[in-house]
Amino acid sequence: MSTALLEVKGLAKHYPVKRGLVLAKTIGTVRAVDGVSFKLAKGETLALVGESGCGKSTTARLVLRLIEPSAGSVWFEGTDITTMTGAPLRKLRRRMQIVFQDPFASLNPRMTVGDILEEPLIVHEIGDKDARKKRVEELLGLVGLASYHAARYPHEFSGGQRQRIGIARALAVEPALIVCDEPVSALDVSIQAQVINLLKDLQARLGLSYLFIAHDLAVVKHAADRVAVMYLGKIVEIATKEALFAHPRHPYTRTLLAAIPRPDPHRKGGRQIPGGDVPSPMNPPNGCRFNTRCPFVTDICRTEDPALRDLAAGHMAACHHAETLPAPQGADAVHAASANTVKRMALYAERRNRIAATAG
Ligand code: ADP
Ligand code: MG
Repeated sequence: MSTALLEVKGLAKHYPVKRGLVLAKTIGTVRAVDGVSFKLAKGETLALVGESGCGKSTTARLVLRLIEPSAGSVWFEGTDITTMTGAPLRKLRRRMQIVFQDPFASLNPRMTVGDILEEPLIVHEIGDKDARKKRVEELLGLVGLASYHAARYPHEFSGGQRQRIGIARALAVEPALIVCDEPVSALDVSIQAQVINLLKDLQARLGLSYLFIAHDLAVVKHAADRVAVMYLGKIVEIATKEALFAHPRHPYTRTLLAAIPRPDPHRKGGRQIPGGDVPSPMNPPNGCRFNTRCPFVTDICRTEDPALRDLAAGHMAACHHAETLPAPQGADAVHAASANTVKRMALYAERRNRIAATAG
């Protein structure tokens, strides 16, 4: 990999938990993010995957400098941005943007789509009124909407269209990096494929890099180049998408893979992740954080926190037993199922393109 566009080193965010209104006493710490490191190359998509509450959104906010880290640093285009302030920070804000899970909540219902898309241009003092109007039309075209949509309000659009508006708004200031925080989690599967295809298409055309956050691996298989799996504030495995799906080395990754919904009418989709709930990040288990749910747990797992270590080129996992785990049961079935999901998404996209072609 050439020099990274983004590099995150030992990033942590700890929130004190207080009790009492006046003279509040700190009674504990939520370890929302607890020592996360990764690199993202230009033009690449790195997926960050894990169950709800494992620290994905907090990592996103740290990367975007929306909150301050408790430890660690964020490097962007070779510069440490962790302590950046003033004009350089404002300039940096143009280079990184975010797309949220719920576009309805993140789009001002009282503003027209045209005003929503023009707002970042005004904030960053880009172009005069005419140039901005032209840019808004261009942005609508980029995300597959029409110029006349500029006069409409967010509630007049479907969920998928609203996410297109969210993407257009992120694109307005020509960023290099877009953090997509569960951008399709609230959408129907058929619409998910369209939005992911749009993101991929924009990436190819504009050379964008994505930090793509998701809570399951099904979506990631289509969207990502590399995948980082997070559990309770830490990355437990990171690899290329192909290596991660074919040779998962961490028991938690296997659990997530097995939970991918199967397109089988006789089986209920989206199986539960076994082993109970995620422990609280306020009192994470001693040793390996996954030990309370891991089917392969031994004594060492309860006392020693395993380091994230190299297992193959570009493939790291944090498990004491990564080398000696038994072959995943029904691995072929799981793999075929996730491959089917991808195929199904591609079919939806193809059908949409055909419909679009006949309509045009
Ligand atoms: P994810 O996006 O993976 O669902 P989050 O990053 O939103 O997870 O949250 C990680 C953990 O940090 C959760 O337990 C959450 O409750 C906690 N957390 C997030 N933000 C705050 C905050 N401002 N104050 C206290 N705890 C927080
Ligand atoms: Mg989140």
